[in-house]
Formats: sequence, C-alpha cells, structure tokens
Amino acid sequence: MIKFSIKKALLGVALTVFCMGITGVAFAYNLMGYVWSNPKGLGYYFASGTPSDIQTAASEGANAWNNASSLIYIGAGGSKNVYIKTVSQSGSAFSGMTDLKLGWDSKISSAAITINTAAISNYTSLEKKGTLAHEIGHAFGLGESGDLWALMYPYDSERIYRGTYVPRDDDKQGIDAMY
Ligand SMILES: [Zn+2]
Repeated sequence: MIKFSIKKALLGVALTVFCMGITGVAFAYNLMGYVWSNPKGLGYYFASGTPSDIQTAASEGANAWNNASSLIYIGAGGSKNVYIKTVSQSGSAFSGMTDLKLGWDSKISSAAITINTAAISNYTSLEKKGTLAHEIGHAFGLGESGDLWALMYPYDSERIYRGTYVPRDDDKQGIDAMY
C-alpha cells in the first residue's frame, strides 16, 4: 500500500510519497501511475546547506540508477527538476519522502526529496546511499515494492539487512514497465 496525499499546488498537483506503512507483501514492484515524459532528463540539485554526506549519497544513488537501466538518467544539476533537501526530526520514523508534482499533461514535472538526517545519522555511507537511491526511485515514479530484496522495499532496516543499496531485478522491472 502506498500512502500519499494529494494537495492542490499552484502549478498542477503534488503527491507525497511517505516511506511507511505497508503490511502484506504478496506483490512486487508498484507503479505510482505517473511517469516523466523525459525519463532521461532528470537533474538533481540541493537546498543550500545540504550536508556533504547527503550530497555524496545522492550522487552515488543517482549513479546506481544510471548503471541499472539505460531507459532513465539522472545527473547532477542539468534541468534541476529533482530538488533534494534535509530536515532533522528526531522522533519521526521517516528517513525520506518524495513529492511528485504533475504538470497539466498529468506527467511528472518535478520531484522534491526530503531526507530526515536525524533518522539516518547512524547510517554508514553505504546505507545513506541506499536511502537516497530509494527516494530517487520514487522520483522516477516507482512506488514501494513488496519484494524484500528490492531497493524500493519501504523499510530501511530490511534493505540494510539484505545489503540492498542499488536497484535489483524487481526495481529494474518496474522501470521497464514504466518506460
Ligand atoms: Zn519509499
């Protein structure tokens, strides 16, 4: 189950993907139902003051997707349509969430990733890479996966337990289905 809220935004509609709350896992990848018209044209950029370890994790997470599929591409800067910022909310369970904004054509026009640094402060650099890569997967339009081995499985603890820090077969199949 993907939990998301829909709110009216000035330009189109924003969806928020929360990394929490899935129970039954009898299925694998999920698509959110929204895609980019230019899935090889994503460019990430950071809010000012974004910690360097988060920037490194984002770069490594982006490269992991670029290496996993030739159907998509996300680079640094470029079209600047994937915004990454951090918050620090101790006592909050989420490590990351991704908002997708839709254009009037109902295609994804931009994404905003929020990383909760308080939740991942004890993570290794590899584990932070996994968190960023997971959120970048949402930015491409993937939902949570029920595949325990998938990068898009919602729980960090399971991904860390299985050593999943890059897209796996289930994640690639999700991209193939979208693009
Ligand atoms: Zn998620």
